[in-house]
Amino acid sequence: MESQQDDRTFPSTNAACHPARNGGVPLTYLFFSEDAADVERAKEICGVCEMKSACLEVGLSTKAHTSVWGGVYINSRGRIAKGPRKPGRPKKSSG
Ligand code: SF4
Repeated sequence: MESQQDDRTFPSTNAACHPARNGGVPLTYLFFSEDAADVERAKEICGVCEMKSACLEVGLSTKAHTSVWGGVYINSRGRIAKGPRKPGRPKKSSG
């Protein structure tokens, strides 16, 4: 996981998620989290990142999915999704 984060941010300290811009704290856990609140926080961080477009391009072309890239969540199929799926079976529709 750490190397995936490295791919998107390093060596540029311009990335808003770079540890150097966050008190030396790696934020990998937010970007690869399966918790919806963490994912939303990661998206907020991307919102102020000047590398957003380039990062999204890399995210869509890499196999390192199910994480936040360029301000969006990319699911296991490599598609942009709202966020991680909740565990369990999907609800049956009533109609
Ligand atoms: S867009 Fe988000 S994930 Fe990509 S480098 Fe910027 S802060 Fe990090």
